[in-house]
Amino acid sequence: MISRKSRHQISLMRTAGSIVAEVLAEMRNVVKPGITTWELDEIAYKIITKNKAIPTFKGYPGLPGFPAFPASICASVNQEVVHGIPSKDVVLKEGDIISIDVGATYKGMVGDSAITIGVGEISEDLKMLLETTNQALYDAIDKMRAGNHLQDVSAAIEDRALSKGLGIVKQYGGHGVGSSMHEDPFLFNYRTGDPGPLLKPGIAIAIEPMFNLGTGEVHMLSDGWTVVTNDGKPSAHFEHTVVVTDGEPEILTNPS
Ligand code: MG
Ligand code: MG
Repeated sequence: MISRKSRHQISLMRTAGSIVAEVLAEMRNVVKPGITTWELDEIAYKIITKNKAIPTFKGYPGLPGFPAFPASICASVNQEVVHGIPSKDVVLKEGDIISIDVGATYKGMVGDSAITIGVGEISEDLKMLLETTNQALYDAIDKMRAGNHLQDVSAAIEDRALSKGLGIVKQYGGHGVGSSMHEDPFLFNYRTGDPGPLLKPGIAIAIEPMFNLGTGEVHMLSDGWTVVTNDGKPSAHFEHTVVVTDGEPEILTNPS
């Protein structure tokens, strides 16, 4: 079932989203060679809880037989696509890229957003990967209009990846978001041939293209969380929580 959020729910999601945006803005400040992903997680936790919100990811159930997610952010470096676990052993170095995904729950409503950041100076290929993935997100947001179908959003993402020959991660995608982090509908990052649901005001979706410099094929590591590219080439991930309105799409995970 696809729920349509009330004005009040959207206002709470806007607050949750602004807290997530505050975390990501601080991540841009502090990501530099020598910092560990563990330290990034500690900074994120402090910002979320200082704002009287709950880190949505902490304690999120894992696959059967695996532990719950232990941290407030997912920190995925280079060939890691999503769901990297922050660690004292992961020290960022010049030329790396890091994808940081954050969720905050405020008064029962969730904001979910992610960015990929270059550590120090990065290669031209990596700059293109980051710019193209971020552009795909904004192409997709522009399709979040009443009267469109969900596949219009998917198609915008696919077209942007194809324009630069990037690999699309197909095993993961966007999702409805609201009182739970993952709600219906699932958003494919490519065309499936099914137009999908009609977009109506109040439908909120976390849009999250994941593009790779090489193949789109990925697999999970033995920790039950970290997803990596099969060919070891780098991956980027950008995400916003977006709501359909009567007019322009509204990004709920922008700074307040
Ligand atoms: Mg996310
Ligand atoms: Mg998400």
